[in-house]
Amino acid sequence: MTPPLNKWGIDLGGTKIEGAIMDSSRPGEALFRLRRETGATQGYEHILSQIEGVISDLESASGLSRPSKIGIGTPGALEPSTGRLKNSNTACLNDQPILQDLERLTGSRILMANDANCFALAEALVGAAVGSSVVFGVILGTGVGGGVVVNGRILPGLHGIAGEWGHNTLRGESHPCYCGRSGCIEGVIAGPSLERFYREQGGDTIRLPEISLRAKAGEKFAIQTLERLREKFAESIAAVINILDPDAIVIGGGVGNIPLLYEEQTRDRVLAHIFNKELRTRIVPPILGDSAGVFGAALLLD
Ligand SMILES: [Zn+2]
Repeated sequence: MTPPLNKWGIDLGGTKIEGAIMDSSRPGEALFRLRRETGATQGYEHILSQIEGVISDLESASGLSRPSKIGIGTPGALEPSTGRLKNSNTACLNDQPILQDLERLTGSRILMANDANCFALAEALVGAAVGSSVVFGVILGTGVGGGVVVNGRILPGLHGIAGEWGHNTLRGESHPCYCGRSGCIEGVIAGPSLERFYREQGGDTIRLPEISLRAKAGEKFAIQTLERLREKFAESIAAVINILDPDAIVIGGGVGNIPLLYEEQTRDRVLAHIFNKELRTRIVPPILGDSAGVFGAALLLD
């Protein structure tokens, strides 16, 4: 029999599907954890069968039978009015009734949330923002997204897009975005956008971690790129603070590894843009690493 306190979570990613059984008596730890390839190019039905496969694998690995409820984090969001997925970068998932299909396939009740929301939930409940009532979890990587957690619960929003700050526009920016607008935050401070800026200044075709190292070594174009990150991040996040005024902001994704984001000088730039004379908001890196997505999915069952 399945012990009632163990929670099963699935993190559906573009390339990997991760499953974990989380030990409720030891928050932030997994009893079992395993992966399968998503195989997104093989289409929607294949992805469904891979998710079912991860659940079967967890049953085999643990000797437990599947629980009546399973949490799943997905790229994109469920449109609350139709129950269909939208805004997913795994395009074959869009407009599919994935929740109903998975419930039929797995025989379990499925609780589903956007992966950025799962990240925010995990860091709020068992990660870097434990003890904070309002948490804004930022994904700052190849794209820019986010999720809002209030008193331990995800705030999904009417359209399921609460926390999606990456497609707000920035003053003075005009780079065209795939969303159809131009000057989006994502087009300025996502990893590929910063790498593009670096090349435009005259830099080489290199990735952001290398640019960060070159900045430390004093290279002019790299310093310009990181100073742009500082200034544009500050302006972007200040708009979130003015509206949500969270207790903590946790920055996940590859760009979130850049130490400059947590420097006092960056806080000063944020303060310059908010409607207050001081900034008490904690702006911190995540502590759960790759586990945040799958833990957040399991924590949907709380
Ligand atoms: Zn956009």
